[in-house]
Amino acid sequence: MAYDYDDTNIFARILRGEIPNDTVAETEHTLAFRDIRPQAPVHVLVIPKGAYVTYDHFAAEASEAEIIDFTRTVARLCNELGVAPGEGGAGCRLIANSGPHSHQEVPHMHMHILAGKPLGPMLAV
Ligand code: AMP
Repeated sequence: MAYDYDDTNIFARILRGEIPNDTVAETEHTLAFRDIRPQAPVHVLVIPKGAYVTYDHFAAEASEAEIIDFTRTVARLCNELGVAPGEGGAGCRLIANSGPHSHQEVPHMHMHILAGKPLGPMLAV
């Protein structure tokens, strides 16, 4: 798999502490922070600390420890944010834009957690 990671991207800069972020969770391998331009009442971004460009890149090449840490952090956040349907929440949408057709803006793998209101159909077509 051929991915060139550009370490000048904004999330790499956040991970290096060069620019601030509104952190909501941090673990050994994962950071979660509020999106600077929220598109729903709850809009959190979850990123691995490793240098992965897209979700498929991460899923293919990250270690099992990184994948478990990331996945469990998403679960914990959904619970703590009160949006996990299994915990009485009204639900959420998890989005990982990957590549040009998805309009991925930041080339560091990230999962959006969107929630807090009815989110409408999945895609505006
Ligand atoms: P995507 O289009 O999936 O790549 O989403 C990138 C997201 O990063 C957008 O929702 C932006 O609002 C968000 N974003 C960009 N810069 C920052 C930042 N400095 N802090 C938090 N979120 C950011």
